[in-house]
Amino acid sequence: MRIASVIVDVPTMNTDKLFDYLVPEQWEEFIQPGMRVSVPFGPRLIQGFIIELKEHTEVMKLKSIHEPLDIYPVLNEELLNLGKWLSEQVLCLKISAYQAMLPAAMKAKYEKVFKRIDDRTNPFLDEIFGNKMELKWDAASERKLLPLLQQEIKNGTVEIKYLVKNKANKKTIRVIKCLLTNEELLQTIEGLSQNALKQKKVLEYFLQNGNEYIPVKQVQEVTGVAPTTIRSLISKGYFQEENKEEYRDPYEHRIFEKTKPFQLTEEQSMAMEPIIRSIEGNYQETFLLNGVTGSGKTEVYLQSIQSVLDKGKEAIVLVPEISLTPQMVERFKGRFGNDVAVLHSGLSIGEKYDEWRKIERKEARVVVGARSAIFAPFENLGIIIIDEEHENSYKQEENPRYHARDIAIYRGKLHQCPVILGSATPSLESFARSQKGVYTLLSMKKRMNNQALPSVSIVDMREELREGNRSMFSRELFEKLQDRLSKKEQTVLFLNRRGHSSFVMCRDCGYVLQCPHCEISLTYHRFTSQMKCHYCGYEASVPSVCPECDSEHIRYFGTGTQKVEEELAKLLPEAKVIRMDVDTTSRKGAHERLLQQFQEGKADILLGTQMIAKGLDFPNITLVGVLSADTMLHLPDFRASEKTFQLLTQVSGRAGRHHLAGEVVIQTYTPEHYSVELAGKQDYDHFYKKEMMMRKLGSYPPFYYLALITVSHEDLMKVVSITEKISNYLHSKLSKEAIILGPATSPIPKINNRYRYQCLIKYKREPNLTQQLRHLLEHYQQQITSEGLTINIDVNPYMMM
Ligand code: ADP
Ligand code: ZN
Ligand code: ZN
Repeated sequence: MRIASVIVDVPTMNTDKLFDYLVPEQWEEFIQPGMRVSVPFGPRLIQGFIIELKEHTEVMKLKSIHEPLDIYPVLNEELLNLGKWLSEQVLCLKISAYQAMLPAAMKAKYEKVFKRIDDRTNPFLDEIFGNKMELKWDAASERKLLPLLQQEIKNGTVEIKYLVKNKANKKTIRVIKCLLTNEELLQTIEGLSQNALKQKKVLEYFLQNGNEYIPVKQVQEVTGVAPTTIRSLISKGYFQEENKEEYRDPYEHRIFEKTKPFQLTEEQSMAMEPIIRSIEGNYQETFLLNGVTGSGKTEVYLQSIQSVLDKGKEAIVLVPEISLTPQMVERFKGRFGNDVAVLHSGLSIGEKYDEWRKIERKEARVVVGARSAIFAPFENLGIIIIDEEHENSYKQEENPRYHARDIAIYRGKLHQCPVILGSATPSLESFARSQKGVYTLLSMKKRMNNQALPSVSIVDMREELREGNRSMFSRELFEKLQDRLSKKEQTVLFLNRRGHSSFVMCRDCGYVLQCPHCEISLTYHRFTSQMKCHYCGYEASVPSVCPECDSEHIRYFGTGTQKVEEELAKLLPEAKVIRMDVDTTSRKGAHERLLQQFQEGKADILLGTQMIAKGLDFPNITLVGVLSADTMLHLPDFRASEKTFQLLTQVSGRAGRHHLAGEVVIQTYTPEHYSVELAGKQDYDHFYKKEMMMRKLGSYPPFYYLALITVSHEDLMKVVSITEKISNYLHSKLSKEAIILGPATSPIPKINNRYRYQCLIKYKREPNLTQQLRHLLEHYQQQITSEGLTINIDVNPYMMM
């Protein structure tokens, strides 16, 4: 008798445990841990993951597995264990940890088919496939062919494909293909009557462009004909029409020029040495590669990966989604060619699955991808690299709320391989660990070819106001803008705006109201005209004069990209501007397209938010302007200074990366703030020291750990009372050293008519914390499942809203 222990796909805490099922005899040889199965659960059939197989169980009345849903395990043993560990670390359900590791195409709503992949004669396959190349899963299952097909998949003669059932949510475009040979085309063109000029145009177009499918839109644009012309050609039988999925893998048809390893500079060799030692010695070590922008970090990654591949092992490279640009991909594909799989959100679900399969089939040994690529199902990992390790996008902001860095180190330990965290501006946490010797610090301080860092000028906007300039452009920035326009050089204008909050600032002295208890800016609430601290709940009304300088120019602060665009149009009507923000880039591929346009010189100014801070490497950019360095500085987030420093450093790095020297203008109301001043000097070490002092004063990471509990519900009273009970409970259970703040309203106090309250825990060592938090979740389970209560627990939060 074989028993399978299954984690079922029912998202509640009560069901977050193993359920035993009997494996029917016919599946005994077939079923393996890591496969998904459908099992009876109450009155329904649901999905689940097989975690382990065993011979005995305590359960008396065993139900049987209904049927397998996979033909081979979709999660290997390592990932099954990782999922368990992850769910304990971040307090999520095991099912959500497992689901997070799989590509979307493998989720339930996709249809599975078996596909023959070699066309050699094979009597067995000929018989079961008939004269078709594909066989539907359900049919195969009914004919009890699954175990046999499992063997064929192992032999490499059959593969399994996931088809998207629901075509409606896919964008398709109409394409047409000419059915005539070139000769027939010529004849047809000659035979057309004199006034069929338009049809002639279309046919000639196809004569030139071969017999591929071409989008109808494109044909219309190029030839200038109306849709009716094309329709009549189709009805004559000259063309075949089809709907094609619009998106194509941007890399599919590109040939990447093969690149050779550079002769390393001395700094690069010094950095490589200990990495190679760890690769050769098969032991785990975490390196923090702190190199200024343009110091050649990527080359260090590439050559480290090469030695891993030489040993027959595999590599994972994580890159923030936003900088996973074609430029970045090119560098990896250029070096390792088809050995590289790319995983990012721009790919369609099917394409993502294909890339994932390349990894699984061991056709690709290097994966370059965003956060979730950390779960790549490699079995022989030799290195994990996280580029721009300070980026917040490595933290997933929904369940499971994991940080890719933690998973990387977990997997690194398991595979005994190095983990490299690279950044010009490492997170405080990582740098502090390198100071304590937990990570090994590798520094690269010189830019390639000793290129100078761009010169940075910090403009005091209070001064501008005093001199009567009320525009959002300082005189210096405006003059430089005009100068670049006349020289036909390009400018990047950066507007730092994020989140929904705003703050109150004195435009004369730059003073910003702070919470007396939390060292955090107070957030202005327009409706109540009140200022609030979102950590502790402190409230104050907006003063009518500045407490620092008695000026009356103290008020709410904030500007949007649209406003800047309008202002530019007024002041510099001749300038061509490309605006990049969430509004202009929400469509698939828009981000790349706009950048492409800018690169091709179709605009003078690129105006945007954080999304333009990274990865831009265009030779013609000689000016970078930061419109207001302060907007992020005053977010209700203890990392505000760190983020400001990182962002300003990144943005400044965009200018003058090539022959033309670069200049940076940073406009600010607080030029004396250390994060602005030190970003101007690109002085990370000094910034680190200063910021560590601030963190110590405020009892923040890396001196303390944090856990953030956010409670939400439609009923305000309920939210307040539950958050209060949670806070009281924690006070009674945690040690005296733990600091528990709240209940306080969240920085975003209401979303979708649901009120939000929070409670923040700061602690150094609380061995029982996760247990207590889990207990809390269990306690409120009833209200969570049936009364619409939400309790989010974020261990090591990055989003403080
Ligand atoms: P980072 O990743 O640190 O910002 P990059 O890897 O982009 O720096 O390197 C900057 C430039 O220097 C790139 O164009 C890269 O091709 C080039 N480069 C890197 N290493 C070398 C080397 N050893 N010799 C010559 N050029 C190099
Ligand atoms: Zn003031
Ligand atoms: Zn406070």
